[in-house]
Amino acid sequence: MNYQNIINEIEDEIQVYFKEGKVADYIPALAHINPNQFAMSIKLLDGTSFNVGNTQNKFSIQSISKVFTFTLALQLYGRSLYKRVGHEPSGDPFNSLIQLEYENGIPRNPFINAGAIVTTDTLLSKYQDKSFDYILDFIRTSANDFTINYDKEVYSSELEHGFLNMALINMMKSYKNINNDLEKVIQTYFKQCSIEMNTEQLANSMLFLANHGVNPITNKVLINEAKAKRINSLMLTCGHYDASGDFAYKVGLPGKSGVGGGIVAIVPGKMSICVYSPKLNKQGNSLIGTKALELFTTKTGLSIF
Ligand code: GLU
Repeated sequence: MNYQNIINEIEDEIQVYFKEGKVADYIPALAHINPNQFAMSIKLLDGTSFNVGNTQNKFSIQSISKVFTFTLALQLYGRSLYKRVGHEPSGDPFNSLIQLEYENGIPRNPFINAGAIVTTDTLLSKYQDKSFDYILDFIRTSANDFTINYDKEVYSSELEHGFLNMALINMMKSYKNINNDLEKVIQTYFKQCSIEMNTEQLANSMLFLANHGVNPITNKVLINEAKAKRINSLMLTCGHYDASGDFAYKVGLPGKSGVGGGIVAIVPGKMSICVYSPKLNKQGNSLIGTKALELFTTKTGLSIF
C-alpha cells in the first residue's frame, strides 16, 4: 500500500476543516499556538516511516503522557492498581468532578485527569522525587530519543491555572486515594503533561504497543504482551474522554489524545500513527486529527474490525 500517497491525500482533504474547532485556552501557554497546523507520521514495525506536514514541530503531549504513566504503574502494581483506578469509560469530560464524588474518589479509568493523577501518585510511592525523571526516561527509551524534554512555560502555566486538577486531587485525598504530598503529585502530573514531542517522536514512542510490548527497532521489552493488550483495550474504550465511543466508531483503532492537539493511534501488528492539529472539538480532542485518522482507516481498511 502506498502510505505516502494516502497521507498526502489526507492532508488535502482535511483543509476544509480548518475553520472548525478551537485551540485549548484554559492553559494560557497553549492559547497562542498557531491553529492552522497539521502533521502526520506513520511508523511501521520494520522502521519505515511516512510523514506529511511539519512533523519536526514539537507540541505539548498533554494527556498522551497518561499512556506512559499507566504503562509504568501497570508494570509496577499489576492488577492491584485497579483498586484505586477503574477501567471503564467515563462518559464524562476529562476533568469532571461529579462522577468522582459519586464513586467515592475512585476515578473511572487512568486516561481521565483524576485517574492519571492517581497513577502518578502510585509512581511517587515508589520513586519519590525521582518520579518525573523516571517517567521522562521511560518516554525517551520508548522513543529511542534522548533529546525529549518538557516545556517549562507550559508547566508553569498549568501550575498557575490548574484549579480543577487541584480540586480533583483534593477530593481524592479526602477519600484517601492519594498517598503522597499533593503538591509533589500535581507538579509531577503537570510536568508529564508539558513534555513536548513531534509527531515522529510520538509515533516512535508508541510502536511497542503495536508489537506486543516490544519496541521492534531497539528490541527493548517495555511491557509484557498481556499488559500491552490491556493498554490497547483501554485506549480503544477510554482514550478520548466522553468522545471515546465516537472515536472507536469512526476510526476503529486504539488511540489517545491530548489537549495540545496530538493523537496517537495503534494498528496492532503493523504500525503506530501520530497526528497533530491543535484545534479541538467540544470534547477536547483534535478535530482534524480525528478526521485524518478516520480518513486513514477508511482509505486503507486498516482498522481492528
Ligand atoms: N494537562 C491537561 C489537564 O490536566 C491534560 C488534559 C488533556 O490533555 O486532555 O487539564
